[in-house]
Amino acid sequence: MTEATPTPVHKCPICRKPAEQRFRPFCSRRCADVDLHRWFSGTYSVPAVEEEPDFDAVDPDEPARRNADH
Ligand SMILES: [Zn+2]
Repeated sequence: MTEATPTPVHKCPICRKPAEQRFRPFCSRRCADVDLHRWFSGTYSVPAVEEEPDFDAVDPDEPARRNADH
């Protein structure tokens, strides 16, 4: 008969496996990496979008104006 160990067992928040001490609170470096990516996604909830639309809106108007002014 063995009682449960008093030491709390940390579980990996990613895959729920027992966490490794060297990778706490994760079970492996991979899970730690996954969590890091999740964290970044949550912080910067902005998709990779460049500021191209602004460039496009000015493009068609510029050449015409230049021609008329000249
Ligand atoms: Zn894990």
